[in-house]
Formats: sequence, structure tokens, C-alpha cells
Amino acid sequence: MANDLTGTPTGATGCGAPSVWSRDGRAIVLSCIGCGRIDTAQQCAGTCGEYRQEIVPAAAHDRAAARLDVDRRRRDALVALTARLAVQAPGADGVEVAYRALQAKARAVLRALPAAVEDGDPSPGRLAVWSCGCCGRMEAEAPCLGVCSDERLEVVRGDVHDGVVAQLDVVQAQLRELTALVRQVAFVTPHAGHWEVTFRALQERARHVVVGVTVAGTSRRARRPRNDL
Ligand SMILES: [Zn+2]
Ligand SMILES: [Zn+2]
Repeated sequence: MANDLTGTPTGATGCGAPSVWSRDGRAIVLSCIGCGRIDTAQQCAGTCGEYRQEIVPAAAHDRAAARLDVDRRRRDALVALTARLAVQAPGADGVEVAYRALQAKARAVLRALPAAVEDGDPSPGRLAVWSCGCCGRMEAEAPCLGVCSDERLEVVRGDVHDGVVAQLDVVQAQLRELTALVRQVAFVTPHAGHWEVTFRALQERARHVVVGVTVAGTSRRARRPRNDL
């Protein structure tokens, strides 16, 4: 979404009205439960321009943020196990002992993973409004049915929500790869005589996966410093 609202100011604004947006991109709007009209109980004193702005209900955004938080903890637990596999050298007891120890650890890690948050509504009721370029006052007209009944609705700026969704996509891709590898360690036992080759193959894959997670984490932080939760 390209508009001029990136970095919407907070506090005193050029149009004389206080900003409706909090620093983390949240605001309260009045939403008619009958017709869907959206408004903020605020007048601009100035003649600042209006811009198209997309907003998402805060409840939907918070579900995505909670999911991101849990998925990151799941990922970090799996990364720790995978990193250990990547560097582990079999001891004097031999590869089979090292493999079985790692297998027990992998099963324990999988059992202890925080429960995944269920998928929420994939389309969280994204709304388009007109918004003051200064104070953020919002408005979306709708054909009124005659009886308007406003309720307070907490919303989040669309670009803030998009930042969380983009991070969620990255973390979930990492989770898929990590989970597949750790499950293989946990539940696949090599045939006799194949301990060494299986261990080495998993170790090679573990190094590859760990590097991928590290690189993605670095570039994500470089791209979106403001939205890194
Ligand atoms: Zn204004
Ligand atoms: Zn209405």
C-alpha cells in the first residue's frame, strides 16, 4: 500500500486536532453495526488532504500477533535442537549412541513445543477509509439504513498488520522445514550399518536449515526495523 501516511505523526498535528493514531498504529473508530459507516468523533481544524487508508480490526491483528509469538517460540526451540545436531561430533561411544541421544532429545523437544495457535480468519475484515493526512481522522460512508448504532471498534493500520503477516509467513516457512527435520531425527531410526551415513546426511541438512533461518532473520530485521516485534 503506497500512500503518504507512512510514519503518521502522533501528538499535536498540523490540522490542529490530536492524532487518532497511537505510536504503534492503533486507533479507535466508531463503526455502525447496521450500515458499516466508519467515523472518528473528531473534527480537523485545518484543510489538510485526505488519503485512502486501509484498516484492520485490532482483534484480528492481535490474533495474528499472538500466533507469530507462539510460532517464534516453536521455531526457536527447534532451531536450538537443529543447531546442536549441526555441530555435534559423535563421541567415543560411536555414532549410534550419539544418534540415539539426539533422537531422545528431539522427541522431548517436540513434546514440549508450545501448542500452535489455530488459524484465524484469513481475511480479517480489511476496511478502506478516507483519512486525514495530519491527525488521521477517518471516515467511510455507507448507505444508511435509517437507524445507525455506533460501536467503538479498535483498529490497526493496514501496513502495521501487513508487517506482522509478512513475518508470520517467514516464520511459518522456517517452522515447516525445521519440523520436518526434527521429526525425521525423532522418529526415523537407521538400519543397522547406516548410522554413520544417516547421521552425516541429517547433520548436513541441519547446517543448511540453520543457515537459512539465520539469513532470513537478519534480512527481516534489516528490512523492517520498526515492526520487528
Ligand atoms: Zn486532521
Ligand atoms: Zn448506520
